[in-house]
Amino acid sequence: VSVFQDVPQAPPDAIFNLTKQYKEDTYDKKINVGVGAFRTDDLKPYVLPVVKKAEAILFNDANLDHEYQPIAGEESYTRAAVKLILGEDSPAIVEKRYAGVQTISGTGANHTGALFLSLFYKKSKKCFISNPTWANHRNIFSLVGFDVEEYPYWNPETRGLDYVGLLQSMREAPEGSIYVLHACAHNPTGVDPTQDEWKGIAEVMREKNHFPFFDCAYQGFASGDLNKDAWAVRYFVEQGFELFVCQSFAKNFGLYGERAGNLTIVTKSETNAQGVLSQFEKLQRSEISNPPAFGSRIVKTVLNNQELYNEWTKNLQYMSGRIIEMRKALRDKLTELNTPGTWNHITDQIGMFSFTGLKKSQVQVLKEKYHIYMTENGRISMAGVSTKNVDYLAEAIDYVVR
Ligand code: PMP
Repeated sequence: VSVFQDVPQAPPDAIFNLTKQYKEDTYDKKINVGVGAFRTDDLKPYVLPVVKKAEAILFNDANLDHEYQPIAGEESYTRAAVKLILGEDSPAIVEKRYAGVQTISGTGANHTGALFLSLFYKKSKKCFISNPTWANHRNIFSLVGFDVEEYPYWNPETRGLDYVGLLQSMREAPEGSIYVLHACAHNPTGVDPTQDEWKGIAEVMREKNHFPFFDCAYQGFASGDLNKDAWAVRYFVEQGFELFVCQSFAKNFGLYGERAGNLTIVTKSETNAQGVLSQFEKLQRSEISNPPAFGSRIVKTVLNNQELYNEWTKNLQYMSGRIIEMRKALRDKLTELNTPGTWNHITDQIGMFSFTGLKKSQVQVLKEKYHIYMTENGRISMAGVSTKNVDYLAEAIDYVVR
């Protein structure tokens, strides 16, 4: 008898399963608006031109080897990543009360950050995630032993933020709870708090001593402006919070499979930062020993070279620009078809995703009748929409909502 006799079958991951079904579908008009990866207007994966340049530099570097990286990653990488999110003049950087740890993309940053808090954060075992959120937040925080609860976020009536519900949750939560906040381009809703709303959130979080755990997977990808997308994080730092920020270079560098990420840590003092970093190094050693080199080399080559950095911002504007155009095209087409309901939320929302408000039964019909693949919650990845398929998509949506 196998020692694995009693291991039950786990369900397949919803998103990766959707892509599998899409690939197996032979219908020529099929559309994949499930997966969160950028596509060109020809629906092809996109290697950023600036990434190709950085790769050429790396391949031509005769001194490049395949030695181990330091446990927390090269400082030339983590420092550049910290600077990118906090801004060069950040008080945390000026006062040296920060640390950076290279992680396995944004997922690894979430995990490593959560693991650290499970061991060293003594105020609370409660962690609040938005309803809805990226499915992995719950997995990651419960895996390390947190008691995970949801805070209201999406208001289906307004198809916008449930600001009142969110603040109420924060007021009622036990002192010192951990709040996982999407820094920009909330996944899956595409709805972000306004700057005034962020100010209100910060105020209540300070009153209640909650810990801000920012997840930033879309800096620069959301608005096309790296600073604008970092506004909320920087505001919290200015307000004197200690916090974590998970950074992913999957989307904004198109380095999905290379797993380049960073966890930025802001503390009260330089001594705090050093202590925290030393414990992160200890954890990282037993988890991955040291982080992978290739993706992070590309990122740091670009971040540490002004010319390449400028080119990167143009590549970001192309990606975010195409997404914004497709939002407009989809909304225009639905309006033209007189599709019942209001569709302004499609252009109001930001980032890779649009939360359409389509119901599970409608999503099912889209898949079965139209070969259009999206997650059950009605989330559309705008990256899967192109000038060539937007009419077909709108007509299909029109059919299911009538
Ligand atoms: N957080 C959020 C909210 C995300 O949407 C994603 C990407 N889907 C991630 C983190 C991390 O992704 P990755 O591990 O590929 O960087």
